[in-house]
Amino acid sequence: MSLDAHRHKKQLGQHFLSSPGVVEKILRAIDPKPGEFIVEIGPGAGALTFPLLRAHGALTVIEFDRDLVEPLAIEGAKHGRLTVLHRDVLQVDFARLGQGHDIEGPLRLVGNLPYNISTPILFHVLAHAGAVRDMHFMLQKEVVERMAAAPGGKVYGRLSVMLQAVCRVVPLFDVPPGAFTPPPKVDSAVVRLLPKPAAEIGVLAPARFEQVVAAAFQQRRKTLRNALSAVCGEEAIRAAGIDPGTRAEQVPVQGFIALANHLAAATPERRADDGASP
Ligand code: SAM
Repeated sequence: MSLDAHRHKKQLGQHFLSSPGVVEKILRAIDPKPGEFIVEIGPGAGALTFPLLRAHGALTVIEFDRDLVEPLAIEGAKHGRLTVLHRDVLQVDFARLGQGHDIEGPLRLVGNLPYNISTPILFHVLAHAGAVRDMHFMLQKEVVERMAAAPGGKVYGRLSVMLQAVCRVVPLFDVPPGAFTPPPKVDSAVVRLLPKPAAEIGVLAPARFEQVVAAAFQQRRKTLRNALSAVCGEEAIRAAGIDPGTRAEQVPVQGFIALANHLAAATPERRADDGASP
């Protein structure tokens, strides 16, 4: 089957870019340089893939739809060195992807993500942030707003805190539904994510941090004293410099990090090998 004959699969979030102007803007934002290892998530019919391949010469893509794999490889060979991985991106170990490649530095991730699983993809990629130099993703505009939100507003939540703890989040530009075939029901936006150097992050106990943030926002209308009652007492909240009477949406990212670090220092996370002890 050719790429032109491909029938869109709604369950895979297939809204293909059909605006050369938007593709050009994304390419300019990525600004590929020779020697970089660039990986595209969800190439679809190649709207971004082939122009990127022509600009950069080599590209690795991860596509879940079996029907697209062979046509992509055939068409890609006309534009540059394309490696097509038929994989579920949620199963890809990005830390190992670059091994054996003749590459310079950490990888650059790009993609017009399938919106139905964009949050799991973001969390999966975050777990490998140390292997990633930067990311340029097209997402639902509303998701980008949540990712970049500052404390104090309604859209500031778990996604904002978890992402901003490890990345700089830079919204770049909005994209209307008409730029895709078929058009999605929502507006879209392109965002740049820049993982922070490990020394800058400051989260000492990632599992504790995740637990605190999830609990705080699960009942976001409650005060932290109540929302976190199963996780810690109000003395711990106060010790981290936070008023227990505030709500999660008022607490800056650094506040959650301080609280998780304080709790971890008081009751250290079990090490993986602790289970072997009697
Ligand atoms: N990049 C293309 C474009 O802009 O025209 C297609 C973008 S489309 C929004 C999302 C793409 O992600 C589709 O090609 C879809 O098949 C693919 N996809 C969906 N779920 C996936 C998964 N779990 N792993 C890898 N790719 C996936």
